[in-house]
Amino acid sequence: MRVTSSRHESGVLSGASTDTVMVRPADAAAASDVHPLASHWARICGRLQAEVGEVEYHTWLRQMTLGPVDHDEITLYLPTRFLRDWVRSQYGDRLGTMWNGEVAAIRRVELMLSPELRTPELRAAEVKTSELRTPPASAATPVAPAATSAPAQVAAEPRGDLAAPLDPRFTFDGFVVGKPNEFAYACARRVAERPSSPGFNPLFLYGGVGLGKTHLMHAVGIELTRAARDAGPVTVAYMSAEKFMYRFIAAIRSQQTMEFKEQLRSVDVLMIDDLQFLIGKDNTQEEFFHTFNALVDAGKQIVVSADKSPSDLSGLEDRLRTRLGCGMVADLHATTFELRISILEAKAQASGVAVPPKVLEFLAHKITTNVRELEGALNRMIAHANLFGRPVTLDATQEVLHDILKAHDRRVTIEEIQRKVSEHWNIRLTDMSSARRARAVARPRQVAMYLAKQLTSRSLPEIGRKFGNRDHTTVMHAVSRVTELMEVDTAFAEDVELLRRMLES
Ligand code: ADP
Ligand code: MG
Repeated sequence: MRVTSSRHESGVLSGASTDTVMVRPADAAAASDVHPLASHWARICGRLQAEVGEVEYHTWLRQMTLGPVDHDEITLYLPTRFLRDWVRSQYGDRLGTMWNGEVAAIRRVELMLSPELRTPELRAAEVKTSELRTPPASAATPVAPAATSAPAQVAAEPRGDLAAPLDPRFTFDGFVVGKPNEFAYACARRVAERPSSPGFNPLFLYGGVGLGKTHLMHAVGIELTRAARDAGPVTVAYMSAEKFMYRFIAAIRSQQTMEFKEQLRSVDVLMIDDLQFLIGKDNTQEEFFHTFNALVDAGKQIVVSADKSPSDLSGLEDRLRTRLGCGMVADLHATTFELRISILEAKAQASGVAVPPKVLEFLAHKITTNVRELEGALNRMIAHANLFGRPVTLDATQEVLHDILKAHDRRVTIEEIQRKVSEHWNIRLTDMSSARRARAVARPRQVAMYLAKQLTSRSLPEIGRKFGNRDHTTVMHAVSRVTELMEVDTAFAEDVELLRRMLES
């Protein structure tokens, strides 16, 4: 049993006229006088439905229609390329077996694109409709006439209020590239240069909060709308998954789902941000899934972001997850100290306010998880400097950003500090709490106390207790002794700084 799909991809149908009558499975029984095998087909459909379940059946198989029979081969039609390929790969063998079981003479099943979709004129007409930015029949979503001729405005006002505007600051130029994000950046650039390339559609960007997913998506959109492409203006629709859901629900309420679907399906590039929001929203997921398939089929580019990889997005329907992983999946890793410094340097430079490297380093040490907050902290210092005409200093930073910095205190434990410090100076961990007073042991112990004070929110008595039940005044003394020493002994200061960095990263 062999399943093929492409033989008459663009050719003329063969066989007698009765053979080409299309029978929808749902009407199969009623139409048994039309297609010679309709009753068999109806039985096969019933069995398929029982076998794969309601959801799968409706997603993939329901739209199959019966085509011509030619000797031992029967043709089944599907309305889109994607559906055809999918059904072939997932259900082809099964269909073959079922047909052969039903009608022994049939030994081959051919899966093809529905004939009406295969005429070149129709394909061209389809493409044209999607490029015309005419408003849908509904008067509720007017589109500014300017949008048809001005690509630059497309980003801001594509097809009514379908999409959110793109933030002009989120460009590729404004994106600082480093090890953690270079792959995602390269993929985004590639999509912006050559949208809808196989292997890059969809582009799935994922990573933690504030690592640049939205920025990169906007950059793709900006680039695509900016570059006047030969094919004419490009319609980019960017929206959060949340907005997608609200729009969808609103469309259902106002009985405008057709318009909503049409609008979505007429864009060249669809970007959905924070897809994780759709977890548990089954109907919306379903709608997104169909939109997704329709667009990819029509050769349009999809860009999706989420906080996790497709395979880790539990709660997303399997078929959607599978489709999302089919293109390019690129993750944005947590930032490194170097990347944070580069981002801060770029932003400080753009602001025109002089920010000393010490302050940048301090911020890059303190705010490690989220670039948005890192940026926010720097902006606050810059605003402060502009407002009061005072230079940005480390002291001012600590004071102005007091609340932010407190929230970002990394939970370093005293045990961790003791371990790292003893390793660094090669002393025994037990000496952190021992009574030994030799300098070789006492100095590292003091450093550990100092770091405990700096890096944890423990009180002096609490710290003292962890160091062999020492008094809080001993800890106080250690803190001031280490501070003094760091000022006069650069090698020592570097050691302490290094330890701090290791503990904070
Ligand atoms: P996400 O969508 O991943 O939560 P965003 O794209 O909204 O993150 O980024 C948060 C903020 O950090 C934005 O202002 C963005 O411009 C900035 N940002 C993130 N990564 C970078 C980077 N590599 N270079 C410059 N700015 C960045
Ligand atoms: Mg985002």
